[in-house]
Amino acid sequence: MGKASKDKRDIYYRKAKEEGWRARSAFKLLQIDDEFNIFEGVKRVVDLCAAPGSWSQVLSRKLYIPSKLNPEYRNGDRPLIVAIDLQPMAPIDGVIQVQGDITNARTAEVVIKHFDGCKADLVVCDGAPDVTGLHDMDEFVQSQLILAALTIVTHVLRVGGKFISKIFRGKDTSLLYCQLKLFFPRVTFAKPRSSRNSSIEAFAVCEDYCPPEGFNPKDLYRLLERVGSPCGSSDLDCSSAWLEGANKVYIPFLACGDLNGYDSDRSYPLTASADGSYRSLDPVQPPIAPPYKRALELKKASSSHAAAALVDIDVDTLTLS
Ligand code: SAM
Repeated sequence: MGKASKDKRDIYYRKAKEEGWRARSAFKLLQIDDEFNIFEGVKRVVDLCAAPGSWSQVLSRKLYIPSKLNPEYRNGDRPLIVAIDLQPMAPIDGVIQVQGDITNARTAEVVIKHFDGCKADLVVCDGAPDVTGLHDMDEFVQSQLILAALTIVTHVLRVGGKFISKIFRGKDTSLLYCQLKLFFPRVTFAKPRSSRNSSIEAFAVCEDYCPPEGFNPKDLYRLLERVGSPCGSSDLDCSSAWLEGANKVYIPFLACGDLNGYDSDRSYPLTASADGSYRSLDPVQPPIAPPYKRALELKKASSSHAAAALVDIDVDTLTLS
């Protein structure tokens, strides 16, 4: 799809470039904030699975840049934003980057070190595996990322803090809801207007972190397993009984963002400039080391080999004739 055609079909792709966001995902976080006011009182944040960095940009613009412009802030008091991804990303004002895998304990340790004994007010995670289109598989891999994020949450989030995580809606959504409810009294699944209806993506907005009494982060997996097991413990709010009859859990699900605003599933006409032409903007910041980089290099190499082979043929042909 050409850039202009993508601009026409995806209003948020176009708007992201106009407003200087690295990815259209920025609008998802902004629309979640419109509904849940997630940045209120926030001074320390962890952005998990952050590349290419549009959520980190939102955090920088909402939290760090205003503090820089405010003379009352001294350097040490400025908001702390730590962003983690497998991929490196171009620098963002006020964002500390950690390159690593969130499912790896060592990455979690590096994040914790940056907080130097303090806790975070907010953890966000927009992690997504490379989607295969096989919904069960995608949902499973996604759930592993959420569990890794929850592990980090149980180490760094302060009591009363918030956790926002991308989820894929599927048959295990109720289980995930119950697992999150063990730690957060308020859990809402939200669908921002900028997230396409055709996508199974949604976001769990978990508020007021409150781990069970005596909880030890080492026991996280054991605790989560008990929620899903047929002999789910009666001391938990959610046991396996949530599946059935009167105990069935209804998950709060909310559409968010201006409902009269742009619809991500609609095409919008392009606005021509004074001379009547349309000029598509370049992406704000192309990924600096995307996972497909090697594939592109190989493709380029093979086409230049092909081109070289053509030149050889031409030379041979010339020699022959
Ligand atoms: N929120 C980002 C933004 O606004 O620019 C977009 C995130 S993108 C949808 C998903 C990211 O998850 C990718 O950059 C990918 O590298 C990252 N990711 C996937 N698995 C990961 C893992 N195990 N550890 C760290 N990052 C991971």
